[in-house]
Amino acid sequence: MSIKNLSRLSRDEVEALFSSIDTVLTDCDGVLWLHTKALPGAPEVLNKFREMGKRVFYITNNNIITREEFLVKCDKLGYRSMKDDVLTTSYLTACYLHDIGFKKKAYIVGTSGISRELNLLGIKNFGVGPDPLVGDVAKLVMKDFKQDPDVGAVIVGFDEYFSYPKILKAASYLNNPDCLFIATNMDERGPCVINDCVIPGTGSMVAAIETCVGRKPFLIGKPSAYIINAIRKRYNVDPKRTLMIGDRCNTDILLGTRCGFKTLLVLTGVNTLEDVMNWKESDNKEDHDLVPDYYIDKLGDLLPLLT
Ligand SMILES: [Mg+2]
Repeated sequence: MSIKNLSRLSRDEVEALFSSIDTVLTDCDGVLWLHTKALPGAPEVLNKFREMGKRVFYITNNNIITREEFLVKCDKLGYRSMKDDVLTTSYLTACYLHDIGFKKKAYIVGTSGISRELNLLGIKNFGVGPDPLVGDVAKLVMKDFKQDPDVGAVIVGFDEYFSYPKILKAASYLNNPDCLFIATNMDERGPCVINDCVIPGTGSMVAAIETCVGRKPFLIGKPSAYIINAIRKRYNVDPKRTLMIGDRCNTDILLGTRCGFKTLLVLTGVNTLEDVMNWKESDNKEDHDLVPDYYIDKLGDLLPLLT
């Protein structure tokens, strides 16, 4: 387990590294962009990878948008992409239910990105949007909430309208052991603090429901076995010739380590070099899987090394 600063490598070393790679899998938020702004030089680096003949795929735990909307965003920010290059957890959640032949209804604690991907595969769903407590809990329990007997799955993703009634409804459906409990991802928080505000991620919302129901969800996104299989099945990658780029070690880098990919951490998002050094020195062997092979301050810094 060693970690190298990519920008300190010689030109020959960088050339040798990239000639040993056919496929680049990249996370998005914190690597390619922060919210609505592309990170400087990142579009040029990805476009350069393609010029060099590498296959580039986007592997994101984002579940707010559909793949179609993701492409619109890519285009706007200067990333050339096609729909088949994109794996979002909203899309993969729909694929999962479709593949297991799910015929019932899904209750969603999340955004319309999940709902629209389910609609595209003909899976009935509801729950998206504000659901605040009206009156008190007694009124909700005794009068307002009537369980839909057709619900066979609860899906939890990022939900900016997360509320007490939603936890209550999700937990009530999940009280039936046959009801599937699916989490799109477990990211704790967003990649940066904005205006002194921490942005809670999907993992915070899943944890609230998990605590109440006392069972673990089936996880769709990075670093789950499900997404690992989806990547293998779709992209037929050779692990030894694949590079995973990310800003979050417990999703992106861990996924790369578990798959036997080379891994590159960019320092424009969640984790810092200090985090990595702590894991590297840790007595807990599991922490070592979070340590990337390479790091670089920002993806754009790769450009001069590739040209
Ligand atoms: Mg990220």
